[in-house]
Amino acid sequence: MPTILAYVETRAGAVRKVGLEAVAAARATADAAGGGEVHALVVGAPGVGAAAGALGEDGADAVLVLEHPAFERYNPEATSAVVADRLTRGGYRLGLLGSSAQGRDLAPRVAGVLGVPVVTDVTALRLEGEDVVVTHPIDTGKVIATLVVRGTPALVALRPGAVAAGPAPRQPRVETIAAVGDPAATRVVTTELTLGTSTRLDLGDAPVIVSGGRGLRSAENFRLVEELAGAFGNAAVGATRAVTDEGWRPHSEQIGQTGRLVSPDLYVAVGISGAIQHLAGMRTSRTIVAINKDKDAPIFKVADYGIVGDVFEVVPALTAAVRAARSAS
Ligand SMILES: Cc1cc2nc3c(=O)[nH]c(=O)nc-3n(C[C@H](O)[C@H](O)[C@H](O)COP(=O)(O)OP(=O)(O)OC[C@H]3O[C@@H](n4cnc5c(N)ncnc54)[C@H](O)[C@@H]3O)c2cc1C
Repeated sequence: MPTILAYVETRAGAVRKVGLEAVAAARATADAAGGGEVHALVVGAPGVGAAAGALGEDGADAVLVLEHPAFERYNPEATSAVVADRLTRGGYRLGLLGSSAQGRDLAPRVAGVLGVPVVTDVTALRLEGEDVVVTHPIDTGKVIATLVVRGTPALVALRPGAVAAGPAPRQPRVETIAAVGDPAATRVVTTELTLGTSTRLDLGDAPVIVSGGRGLRSAENFRLVEELAGAFGNAAVGATRAVTDEGWRPHSEQIGQTGRLVSPDLYVAVGISGAIQHLAGMRTSRTIVAINKDKDAPIFKVADYGIVGDVFEVVPALTAAVRAARSAS
């Protein structure tokens, strides 16, 4: 039975949603293959192991904790050395991590160290005999490729939000592990991490994303998007490249081929045409709602629910309806 290693991404000592998703996906993959252990690997500054027990909720049988001051911020060289070392020693079939900015940096480094295959931006996976079969959108999402990955251990980075983290409670054993070499003696040291000023959820963590396009006409009008996101209470704000190029919103909010790749439970597209480069970043969202005054806008081709109308009328009404529904529940 396969043993799977899930790398649990953390930031400032807290486990990130992509980290939980890696554990949940490992659990589901192991179970579908007849069982097998899931080991969650947590690397961070002293104290990061406090989150360890909770990873049993997502299906970890064992939590491997490495605490060292050199891991206070993401340390690419030292972290890739640790993950590569664990994958080799543990005899793992598969290494899973999130296809976040950190995961997309880490996965190829580990694969390079070990000389094993890696696929990033994966939306589904399963074990089939000796192979790992993964689903990977290509060509800006117009084609969903099924790839057969040969080689052990394989490394797979999952698109944030693509796998629903569900409860699969276990009582994990917690093991302390040692660093490889001196993690403080790496060539690259991250000295500072500047976080955005937004108080909203990160795009990769939010179950709901309200995203705005050029149809909003100005930076000021983005308050409509902010208000709708605020009404949901668990939403992040996204934007198209047209909007970020105009300087109406920061580039960190751009969704699409040259921006963030997201798969929230709900994606609300406000005044967005649905250019292929935008769809590349959001078409795998579970439910898509589009608001556009042009009934022929391409966004309606991927939308589950389409509202043909003026955003300046529809969005305030929707915001009021969401507020009312939430206060009634
Ligand atoms: C190499 C490359 C990479 C790119 N990468 C990205 C990327 O990562 N992400 C991305 O988003 N784009 C990307 N683009 C740009 C992309 O091609 C589009 O130009 C962009 O997505 C369009 O943004 P938009 O939908 O906001 O604007 P538009 O295409 O101008 O659409 C605005 C929409 O708003 C509607 N509208 C206008 N007024 C109203 C109203 N009052 N009420 C309701 N609807 C209204 C219109 O009908 C229209 O459909 C890339 C382009 C290239 C060439």
